[in-house]
Amino acid sequence: MSSISILGPDVVTLSPGETSVLELIALDARGRQLDTALQASWKVEIPARASVQDGRIAAGEQLGHTWVFAAVADLQDSVAVWVQKPEHEPSAFRITLLWDEEVPAWWREALTTAARRWEQVIRDTLPSADVATLTDYCEMYDAPTLGHIVEGVEHGVRIHVTVSDAFPPATYVEAVGGVCMHRGLPQPTTVLGKITLNRFWVDAGMRPHRLSHVAHHEMGHTLGLVGLVQGHQPPWLQADVGEYRGHLALYGHLLDEGRTVRVLSYLDGMHWSLRELMGTTPSYRIGNVSVGSLMDFGYPAAWYGAGEVSTTPSP
Ligand SMILES: [Zn+2]
Repeated sequence: MSSISILGPDVVTLSPGETSVLELIALDARGRQLDTALQASWKVEIPARASVQDGRIAAGEQLGHTWVFAAVADLQDSVAVWVQKPEHEPSAFRITLLWDEEVPAWWREALTTAARRWEQVIRDTLPSADVATLTDYCEMYDAPTLGHIVEGVEHGVRIHVTVSDAFPPATYVEAVGGVCMHRGLPQPTTVLGKITLNRFWVDAGMRPHRLSHVAHHEMGHTLGLVGLVQGHQPPWLQADVGEYRGHLALYGHLLDEGRTVRVLSYLDGMHWSLRELMGTTPSYRIGNVSVGSLMDFGYPAAWYGAGEVSTTPSP
C-alpha cells in the first residue's frame, strides 16, 4: 500500500448529535483502490468533542475543535472536525460594554449594535476567568482607573470604552480597539478589551455608515482579530513577520475565495490583506477568514455567523 486519504473538505463541520460519513481511500503502489473498511483504525484527538462510529461516521459531541485520525497499516491521514452550535439555538456569548461618562449616546448605540452582531458569530460562553487575577497583564490600565471593570468572574468579553485627547492632531483615526487581557494559551480568547474614541471625531460627529463600520471593526480588534496575542504566541501565529497559519482561518479563506493557501498575511495595524470587515479595504462583511480566526483562538464561533453587518446603528 502506498497512500491513504480521507476524502472531502479540510474541515468537517457538525452540530452536537449530527453525523457525517468519512470516506477513506487506500491505494496500492499501482494506484489500485483497496478495501479499507475492515482494516482502518480511527482515533479522535479529543474524544469529548467528536466520535467515530461504525468505523467511518463522525459524530459531533461538544462544541469546539478536534482532529480525527485514520490509520491503515503504517499510513495515516487526518481531518479537522469543528463542532458548532446549531443556528436555531440562541447564542449564550455575551459582550459587556463598560462606558466612561464622556462616551456619547450615538457611539453607545453603534457599539451596542456591534456587540449584538459579534454575539451572533460567537455562540457560547468562554472558560471562566477571574478578572482580578489578570490585572498584572493589563498594561493599558493604571490601577486608579480600573475600579469595577476588573472585578468578578468573566465568561464572555468585557469592553471598556473611553474617550481620549491623545490622538495626533488631524488624524483620520476615529477610534482604536485592542485586547487588554486574554485567557492563556492554547485558547487566548479576550477577557477584557478596550476601545478608545478620538475626542476630535466625538466632537465633530461621523456619518452613520462610517460609524457602524468603525464600531464593528474596532470590536473585532478587541476580540483578538487580527492575530494579537500578548507574550508567548500560538504556534500558528507569527506576529513579528505578520504570518498567520491557523488552519480554521485558512479553511475560511478557502470558503471565501475558493482556493487553498498555506499562509494568511496580515498587515501593520493587524488587518487582513483581504476585502472584509477586518481588512484594509472598507467592507461591511465579516468574512469566513475572521470567523475561522476566532475559532483558531478558541471562540465557539459558527460559520453561519459570517456575512454582512448592520449599517444602521440604531435597532
Ligand atoms: Zn483596524
